[in-house]
Amino acid sequence: MKSVLFSRFFILLPWILIVIIMLDVDTRRPAPPLTPRPYFSPYAVGRGGARLPFRRGGPDIGPRRGWEKRNESRPQPRPRPEPPLPTIYAITPTYSRPVQKAELTRLANTFRQVAQLHWILVEDAAARSELVSRFLARAGLPSTHLHVPTPRRYKRPGLPRATEQRNAGLAWLRQRHQHQRAESGVLFFADDDNTYSLELFQEMRTTRKVSVWPVGLVGGRRYERPLVENGKVVGWYTGWRADRPFAIDMAGFAVSLQVILSNPKAVFKRRGSQPGMQESDFLKQITTVEELEPKASNCTKVLVWHTRTEKVNLANEPKYRLDTVRIEV
Ligand code: UDP
Ligand code: MN
Repeated sequence: MKSVLFSRFFILLPWILIVIIMLDVDTRRPAPPLTPRPYFSPYAVGRGGARLPFRRGGPDIGPRRGWEKRNESRPQPRPRPEPPLPTIYAITPTYSRPVQKAELTRLANTFRQVAQLHWILVEDAAARSELVSRFLARAGLPSTHLHVPTPRRYKRPGLPRATEQRNAGLAWLRQRHQHQRAESGVLFFADDDNTYSLELFQEMRTTRKVSVWPVGLVGGRRYERPLVENGKVVGWYTGWRADRPFAIDMAGFAVSLQVILSNPKAVFKRRGSQPGMQESDFLKQITTVEELEPKASNCTKVLVWHTRTEKVNLANEPKYRLDTVRIEV
């Protein structure tokens, strides 16, 4: 009896060992990730530090399936070269004030995570300031530094701000692309005090002509948004002058470079433009409501906020320099 058991055991032993070895080898392969890859991964792309990798096929990106090929030796089909990403041109008017560098720092920290973004920073000043020049030199972003002063007569409360600066940005863009019309690009106006999510840039990148989306904390409401029916803008949810043809904030739209170039006369106007009508007057020159492309899930998501920074309290700032060092703030 004992010898029968022994012989069975020795017959089975090699098979048991083989099964154990095979199981062990299989578990040593890299396991697929348990959790989907994060929506925004901080992988560095290109120069200038971490960039947001843009994946084609829209913003609804899940984990990429089948990326882990079991048979590594099989010849892989060569990936078709993808067309270059459209460049996002962000025009930012900015002016000297105690919070300027803080605002620009927040903005640069956002922009640095966006692939293929060109920052057009336009100072409201008679000359480029040292503070902004130094800042841009260290920002690690492709950028252009312009300046134009707002005429004194326009520096009054109730009058539109940054008209000349936005126009200077537009002029630079048109000049730069005078001869090479092929490049695809998207322009948007990025005030220095707003708050921008990274998803916003993914949404606007696919702008064909003019795209629109909701803006948070604006117009005396929690948000404003274009009303969308069957994929088309049919009206505006706004608390202020709903009769505007385009009842939208500066942070609520993007325009393709082609549209900017094919409408060379479209600019922001001082004359004839009532306060708060700048956006609408500009958009009227380049598009129609029917043509607008709704983004952010048919304009149901807030991806940008019209935040405003509180005026800083400098009540205890000495009139004459008391500190032994001069510090840029
Ligand atoms: N701005 C400017 N010069 C000014 C006032 C404002 O260049 O005299 C810029 C400012 O830095 C911002 C944009 O214009 O990028 C809009 O200004 P602000 O944020 O004060 O306007 P609001 O929040 O009321 O739209
Ligand atoms: Mn603002």
